[in-house]
Amino acid sequence: MLKIKYLQPSTLRLHRNVAACLFPRMYSSSVDADIVVIGSGPGGYVAAIKAAQLGLKTVCIEKNPTLGGTCLNVGCIPSKALLNNSHFYHMAHSGDLAKRGIESDNIRLNLESLMKQKTTAVSALTGGIAQLFKKNKVELISGHGKITGVNQVTALKEDGSSQVVNTKNILIATGSEVTPFPGIEIDEEQVVSSTGALSLSRVPERLIVIGAGVIGVELGSVWSRLGSQVTAIEFMPTIGGVGIDQEVSKTFQKVLTKQGLNFRLSTKVTGATKSGGVVKVNVQDVKDSSKTEELECEVLLVCVGRRPYTENLGLEEMGIERDQKGRIPVNSVFQTVIPNIYAIGDCIHGPMLAHKAEDEGIICVEGIQGGPVHIDYNCVPSVIYTHPEVGWVGKSEEDLKSEGIEYKVGKFPFMANSRAKTNNDTDGFVKVLSDKATDRILGTHIIGPSAGELINEAVLAQEYGASAEDVARVCHAHPTCAEALREANLMAYFGKPINF
Ligand SMILES: Cc1cc2nc3c(=O)[nH]c(=O)nc-3n(C[C@H](O)[C@H](O)[C@H](O)COP(=O)(O)OP(=O)(O)OC[C@H]3O[C@@H](n4cnc5c(N)ncnc54)[C@H](O)[C@@H]3O)c2cc1C
Repeated sequence: MLKIKYLQPSTLRLHRNVAACLFPRMYSSSVDADIVVIGSGPGGYVAAIKAAQLGLKTVCIEKNPTLGGTCLNVGCIPSKALLNNSHFYHMAHSGDLAKRGIESDNIRLNLESLMKQKTTAVSALTGGIAQLFKKNKVELISGHGKITGVNQVTALKEDGSSQVVNTKNILIATGSEVTPFPGIEIDEEQVVSSTGALSLSRVPERLIVIGAGVIGVELGSVWSRLGSQVTAIEFMPTIGGVGIDQEVSKTFQKVLTKQGLNFRLSTKVTGATKSGGVVKVNVQDVKDSSKTEELECEVLLVCVGRRPYTENLGLEEMGIERDQKGRIPVNSVFQTVIPNIYAIGDCIHGPMLAHKAEDEGIICVEGIQGGPVHIDYNCVPSVIYTHPEVGWVGKSEEDLKSEGIEYKVGKFPFMANSRAKTNNDTDGFVKVLSDKATDRILGTHIIGPSAGELINEAVLAQEYGASAEDVARVCHAHPTCAEALREANLMAYFGKPINF
């Protein structure tokens, strides 16, 4: 846990004075609030609504024209719209539907319509937040929020005017931005970030993805299904990013390779140049630097991660330092070095996930109102929304081995699950890891149909300290894929499942 040293009142007064000097009477108007939330991503908007529901006079400042942050505008939501619809196209185009007795001729892709459906979903959801703000009496101010005093945030507006909000508390929820790749300039047309990859106007013949982490494989899958020849180049020897169980990762790679994606693992990108309509990508073997190669593609997708976004937020002036990764250090109740200035979501430590930001937002404002503040990061699930999906929570086998914890493994393949078999969707398995001595569930790893939904049952079980036997004894509806989770738990505690 991070230890936060609070600034002395005299230092705070100094910061207030500095702010007053930096921002002389340039304000056009001012309002008062109990809490100002800076940013309306899943962390910020959820925190603002919760704060208002708890009776706090709440203001949310957002610099973008639409609400919802990365997640709704250029992240979770548009990527899932493309994943869903590209899967349908692939099922029709690859002959999968025909095998199920649904025949149609002349399957064509209308990329414009596919993108339109994505935009419709995004607009509906971002507009929905504006409605929720109204319903819950959250005041929205458009502008770039800058902390100009311990109890003051200034919204800098596009037209050059500004609005001051005097407030008891400040909650920073400014999220993250794409991490650039040194030496490779993103133009969002030929060389794109995840944002550009969500809106390509044509299906590129060849797409190279730098990074086979969660976002890289999701977007690689989308374009592969739509007809691109996709190659993902990954520095690490495995795919799926941080925290994925290695057995799952290997199966995942096999399944995606079968679907047509190419992987170049343990390979480093050393540079890329645009030449006419082609991007030339230079790669090098991680273990043997003499092995180099030049690859070509029409579109290069740079997907090497995200970094906290705290641009022009006034942190320096307030004496709030960032750590080496650019994150804002907070204590266990999300306070920065200034006790009434809090931070949550992608701009602090922990996994960069929407649901993690939401949970932090809720408990942070509950804490401000005197409630308990508790989050177990070991119970925050991760999901990769490819087909099959991958979902996990808790410890991987690699974690348990490195921590010297003795464990049991319960595994059940979807090949033996009646619903998966009925749906002809049998790739993957459920793997449950439980404590050898106590049977307590330590981790659950799923690759298979609806893994992203199934994992929530495993999260609930783990959050409440359930044993594998507890889950195995719970009645599960039949026929469902969730029965595979039950069987894996049965195997973990009893050693034998029923149906395999
Ligand atoms: C392609 C992609 C797919 C993803 N898919 C998933 C997924 O499936 N599931 C998942 O859990 N996560 C996913 N993520 C990650 C997820 O989007 C982030 O973890 C989440 O959005 C973080 O929420 P946040 O509220 O911390 O920040 P953000 O969503 O980044 O929101 C921050 C907001 O603050 C605003 N802001 C910043 N500075 C200021 C300022 N000074 N003044 C006013 N406003 C400001 C920004 O404009 C933005 O609206 C994905 C990300 C990407 C890029």
